[in-house]
Parts: sequence; structure tokens; C-alpha cells
Amino acid sequence: MLLVTSDTHRGDHVGALGPGAPVRTPAIDALAARGVLYTDAYAASNTTNPSHGSLMTGLPVRDTRVLDNSSPLVDDARTLAEAFRDAGYHTLAAVSVRHLMDDESGFGQGFERMAGPSSEASERPARATTTQAVAWLDELADEPVFLWVHVFDAHSPYEPPASTDRRYYPKGKDPFDPSQRLQYDGRFLPVYLRGLTDVEFPYAQYRAEIDALDGELERLLAHPRALAGVTALTADHGESFGAHGIWWDHAGLYPDTLHVPLVLAWPGGPHGVRCDAPVEQMHLGRTLLDAAGLVASEFRGADLRAAAAGAAIERPRYSLAKEGHAASLLEGGWFLVLNLSDYQTTAMARPRARHTVELYDLAHDPAAANDLAEREPARAKAMRAKLVEWLGGASARGLAGAGAGTAEQKRRLASLGYTGDGPSEDARAGRWIEADCDCAQCARWRD
Ligand SMILES: [Zn+2]
Ligand SMILES: [Zn+2]
Repeated sequence: MLLVTSDTHRGDHVGALGPGAPVRTPAIDALAARGVLYTDAYAASNTTNPSHGSLMTGLPVRDTRVLDNSSPLVDDARTLAEAFRDAGYHTLAAVSVRHLMDDESGFGQGFERMAGPSSEASERPARATTTQAVAWLDELADEPVFLWVHVFDAHSPYEPPASTDRRYYPKGKDPFDPSQRLQYDGRFLPVYLRGLTDVEFPYAQYRAEIDALDGELERLLAHPRALAGVTALTADHGESFGAHGIWWDHAGLYPDTLHVPLVLAWPGGPHGVRCDAPVEQMHLGRTLLDAAGLVASEFRGADLRAAAAGAAIERPRYSLAKEGHAASLLEGGWFLVLNLSDYQTTAMARPRARHTVELYDLAHDPAAANDLAEREPARAKAMRAKLVEWLGGASARGLAGAGAGTAEQKRRLASLGYTGDGPSEDARAGRWIEADCDCAQCARWRD
């Protein structure tokens, strides 16, 4: 049983999607060739720990209240690793970023062993993580194993290794050529891009990072244990390259940040199937348990293999942004964003205003470029009402503890571009929006 999460990996960045795919991912494609490629999988959030928290519990962020990268999941949460451990599996986790380690995430619960970056480092390259993972698989060759492997290479800064560096950038071109003028509406450049004059360069390097991490996953995905067992690959969230004024970051709830890869192969399952049905990534945990025959294990979610077999499982898909700054609802191809607070980060060219609504017709506008809220007010109101009702159903008590929030932890998060005050008191308590809010926006969008 192998679960791979590739951090910040966009759902449309998988080679197996076809000749127009922007990356080359032979290792992931080989997994798709012996299993199912889900082309419409959405994550529960746009940030690492919130999204992984949902994957590891089967619960939406509304209920876990793991809202940022420093609010650990409490011990009484029921996790996927605990479900496998209780069924007699060895449970192992190899992660690549410090804030997924147990002391900061609480995600170590249920895992016999967990390995990741040393306490001083923020992150480590995929090679170190996959080397650890392969060693464990070899050591426990005859034992049942649940192994979670997390790689962080697609996350900024986009600095691919020499093997793929500048693979997608025109030869001889200088992205820092001072005679060019940067076409950029962002507020300022991240430190690692200082002097940049070609806005295309970071995206080209992101693609090269994905090619490189695929190369590192090859040993793992082609390991005899992975070939013989249940193997899944997904991401926690995507990445935005200027759409909606969000640059080189995953702020905001949009297809860029919520659409993730999802590939699943299991013994006796179909080969090379492409499943276009809408699915939620957080149901993967339940799916893995069912695929392992552990149908009686206590864990939330639905078996995604039913979707691959053609069963209709369309249901509203809800997401909640980092720190609860926005919520979204995707249903029937329509995507509604409700901004829950005034919000702007350094990666956002423009602020979002509290209780404003955005509406997109993804069936005809997959990039969510045209906000149709003004033209479709009845639809916007109905979807907003449904989303507000869903938010109002938050569990009374979340599953997140107060983060240690040490100076060292803040320094490491800042080195990855994460700064801010953390979730508000209301967000931590699951009070997302007052149903009878009388602000001008709510008055306008309420029925
Ligand atoms: Zn992430
Ligand atoms: Zn309001």
C-alpha cells in the first residue's frame, strides 16, 4: 500500500493526459497505464497541512480546522495510518517538508516510523525521501505495509536540478536580461526571482521540476511492492502562474490551486482507464482501505473505484482556503467562490473583499477566467446559500490544536514564503460567516 503526495503539483501537469501535456512524467504515466487516471479530482484546500489533514482523516477542513501549516491535528483524530496500523500493517511515512513532521502537523499519529528533513532544514529533495522509502520497502519485504511518501520539489522556489534545468526555456535566452521589461502585475518579486525580466521563466522551471521529481519517483513507483500492491499518487494542491492575479503561489481557491492529479492502481483493477467523473481527493483514504479489503475499518469517505467503474458520484465539492479566508462550491460544472474575509498576501496582485462572490462556468471556461456572478445572479445566490449552509454545519469542535508557533517554526515557514497572523479566533471555532450577515455584499447576494 503506497500513497504518494506530490506537493504543489497541478492536476493538468501529468504526461498521461495526452500529447498536449506540459510535462513529461513517464513514471506517473506508467502508474496510470496500469490503473486509473482521474482527470477531475479536487483537493479540500489550497495549502499543504490543511489539504493533507483532510486526506489523512477523510474530513473537510471545515471540520478538521487544520487551517494553516502550524496547527497540528490532535491525537483523538482518527487517521488513515491508525486504520492501517489497527489492521496489522506496518505504517511508515517519509516526508520532505519540516511542517509535515509530527511535532508540527500531528500527522505522525498511527505511523510506526516517520522520517523527514532534519530539525534545522525546512525541506529536503525527493531523492532523500524516496531513498528512505525504498529502503523501508526492501527491509519489510514480506510484511504488510502502508507507506506515505511526500515530495516537495514542485513547490517554489522553482530550481530544477541540472538534469532538467531550463528544459522548457528557449536556449540562449536570458530571463534576467536587463534590456527586457517584465510583464507583471504583481506587487513585488519573491527574493529568489529578483532581477527577473521574463515572466515565463518561473513557469518553465516549474515544469522542469515536475519532470525531475517524476524521475525520482520512478524507483519507488516501479518497486516490486508498488507494482504488486495498491498504489496511489495525488497532490495536496496546485499552483497559480498569474491567473486571478496570483503569482507563483497557491493562494486563492481556483482550478489552478484545487485541481490535483489523482492516479490509482490496484491488483485486479482496470488498466489504462481515464476517469473524467468529478471526484474529491479526500476520499482517497477510504478508497485505499477498501482496496486493501479493510471495508470494516472506521474511516470517512467514499470508494473512488466506483467512479472508475462508471458509477455516478457527482456531489457538491466544497473547499476551504488557508486560514479560512475563502470557501468554494463546485457542482454541475459551476464554481462559486465566497470570500470570507478581506484578504491579500504578497503573492496576490489585488485584494479580495469580505463576503464578495465569484461565479465561473468551468464547463465552458475551465480556467475560471470570466466571473459570471453579475450575469447569473440567481445561480450565484442559490450556490452561495448552499455554501453558507454547508459552512454552518461545521462540527462544534475541530481537530486542530494550537500550534507551538515558535520563532524557529515561524522562521522556517517564512523561508518557504508563508507569513501571516494565522487563522482568526472565529475561523478556529468554525464560525465562518453569519447566515444573517447584514453587510452590503450579503444583502446583495442573499435571496
Ligand atoms: Zn503543499
Ligand atoms: Zn456579509
